Amino acid sequence: MSSHSVIASAPSSPPPSKPASPSAVSTLQPLRGGNSYDIVVVYVDIVLLGVLGLFVLFALPRTISRLSRASEWKQGLFFYRRNALSPKSQDAFSMDGAGELKYGNVAANIQTVGSHGISDSYRGRSSGPTPRLVAPGDQELHAPKHTPAWSTRFPGISWVLSMQVLPGYSVGKVFLLLSWFGIMLFAGLFNINPFLYPGRAGIIVYSQLPLVFALGTKNNVIGMLIGQGYERLIYLHRFVGRFLVFAANVHAIGIIYEAMDAGDWSRVIYKGVIHWGIVALVCMDILFLLSLSTFVQRFYHIFYISHIVSAVVMLFATCFHYPAARPYIYATAAVYVLDHLLRVLKSRVTTAHLQPIPGLSMVRVQLHAVNCGWRAGQHVRIKVLSMGMGICGWMEPHPFTIASVAESANGEGLTLMCKKAGDWTGKLYALAEGNKETESQMGRDVTVLIDGPYGGPGNTVVTSYSGAMLVTGGSGLAYGLPIVEEFLQKGMQGVSAILVVDLVWSVRSPSHLSPMIPFFTRLLEQAPQANLSLRISVFYTRAVAASALQGLEVLPPGLTLAPGRTPLEKTLESVVESTHGAFLDGKSAPNGVFVGVCGPLALTEEVSNVVRNFDRGMFHAVGGIEVQEESFSW
Ligand SMILES: Cc1cc2nc3c(=O)[nH]c(=O)nc-3n(C[C@H](O)[C@H](O)[C@H](O)COP(=O)(O)OP(=O)(O)OC[C@H]3O[C@@H](n4cnc5c(N)ncnc54)[C@H](O)[C@@H]3O)c2cc1C
Repeated sequence: MSSHSVIASAPSSPPPSKPASPSAVSTLQPLRGGNSYDIVVVYVDIVLLGVLGLFVLFALPRTISRLSRASEWKQGLFFYRRNALSPKSQDAFSMDGAGELKYGNVAANIQTVGSHGISDSYRGRSSGPTPRLVAPGDQELHAPKHTPAWSTRFPGISWVLSMQVLPGYSVGKVFLLLSWFGIMLFAGLFNINPFLYPGRAGIIVYSQLPLVFALGTKNNVIGMLIGQGYERLIYLHRFVGRFLVFAANVHAIGIIYEAMDAGDWSRVIYKGVIHWGIVALVCMDILFLLSLSTFVQRFYHIFYISHIVSAVVMLFATCFHYPAARPYIYATAAVYVLDHLLRVLKSRVTTAHLQPIPGLSMVRVQLHAVNCGWRAGQHVRIKVLSMGMGICGWMEPHPFTIASVAESANGEGLTLMCKKAGDWTGKLYALAEGNKETESQMGRDVTVLIDGPYGGPGNTVVTSYSGAMLVTGGSGLAYGLPIVEEFLQKGMQGVSAILVVDLVWSVRSPSHLSPMIPFFTRLLEQAPQANLSLRISVFYTRAVAASALQGLEVLPPGLTLAPGRTPLEKTLESVVESTHGAFLDGKSAPNGVFVGVCGPLALTEEVSNVVRNFDRGMFHAVGGIEVQEESFSW
């Protein structure tokens, strides 16, 4: 039976027949057909689909819980605009006459507000404005239904699975990778000698192409099914991809060895199928070499373009190299085309206002024309269509987390906070600054192309928890802000269960706080109306002279500034205790605490460890503590 017929008739295939004896295995067997045991690859694919089905099943309670609210269907897929929400923004950052940054009517220089400023060490919740902090009864609240994650239902198993074994890799992740690897080894070696039959390695490669492509797409079907943002599956894409490159090379080396061993080399090299095989192999190797992290960090755009070109050429080449692979290639192409079609449908050309924030070395990008359609935690890809970005720069898409809440009543629109990190963001900053000599006010309007929203919280509904701790580092603040805004917005509408929120921001210098004070003040002022106890704690890590703290001595209530590392355990304890305290009347039980973290890998891992090792009694008393990690890299 040829492998073509094996693949094509997979569902109704008879049991495999006796394999050919090794002596009967031709040196060019893969070119002519396969081994009867190749059917194992199809069975393995069915098993993998079954495993995916299990994950979907496990995710189903939260999927149903989230999608049972009509409002959830309108969020997270496409950007749109609602006119009723769009008065000219009152809240946009602007410069006042004295060159101070303003947020609406709140000036940055808040010497008169509040009761405390720089704190030497961690202080208790009492520092923040404290509303009544009593959980409202069911009749008062129309909060989203809370469905705990499996980590809350089975904390023991979760404790083991969330243990970090390698940077960025928990036991759970490693277990998943090794399981897939084991299955592939089984399929690759089942009843054959890989040295005598390199064809199996080739079959493994094309059989996994739909998977590796599906895992790498932004409009990620697998992610949607299991309720996870695509960025949380990138590690799988990377691992599966690298294994396939390895398998493709094993396949090629085996063929070359066979041909040379049989003295057939010159005959083989003139075959068209071999030429296509070489093209596919070269593409595979380019995919691997140019996606090594050191290369990606330095030459992101070469990686990006080479990844697309090599992947597409590899698919074509595989079709011609081995026609039996075509059903798999078509499935792969369908996944790829669907993703790109959706990207086009998710694209918008609009005007953005660029505002430099010198104190933060950031540009605030504000798109008034887009004000609905995303969820807090999602990101967008943006191209700035201006020659000011350079000859190639205007064509480059860059991802940024959406730093504002959708459907904001102040008409703020979609906002990004882009930190100067390299060439492109540097040019963006220069463009935003404009010509300071001639322009009376910094900031300018440019045309942008955005596509999104992508990624994000998946099935997690942040407003369904009772408490939240948001830990952010540097520009990771862009992740925390829209979540806090959502708590406030939904709290005021009476559709949020959140009562206690701690936003922690770790920065290098205390001066980073100054431009944000007006914005933080606005958030803190709104908290009581949303029945929310909000506290914002800023920690700076660099030693500074006393003069650097000038103007920061007095801060609004609820906002603190302190030197040193973030006291994560204490902050979490405080959130958990306050949340638990709000339910002491016993009328209802807390829905758990959400912990969101965005920043460098070291920070996300530290937060994850703090949650893992948190007091079990309090963990249960508060209804569980669930972590979501975000980082600004793949
Ligand atoms: C999902 C996601 C969300 C992000 N959100 C924010 C945010 O809200 N605020 C913020 O300041 N930064 C954010 N970033 C980081 C931001 O995208 C990069 O800092 C920016 O693209 C760097 O471009 P550059 O040319 O100025 O710097 P470079 O010096 O070219 O690159 C600096 C780093 O960014 C990576 N990078 C460069 N271009 C891209 C790209 N097109 N896509 C992905 N990574 C790239 C490089 O690999 C390198 O590690 C986010 C990144 C990701 C992946």
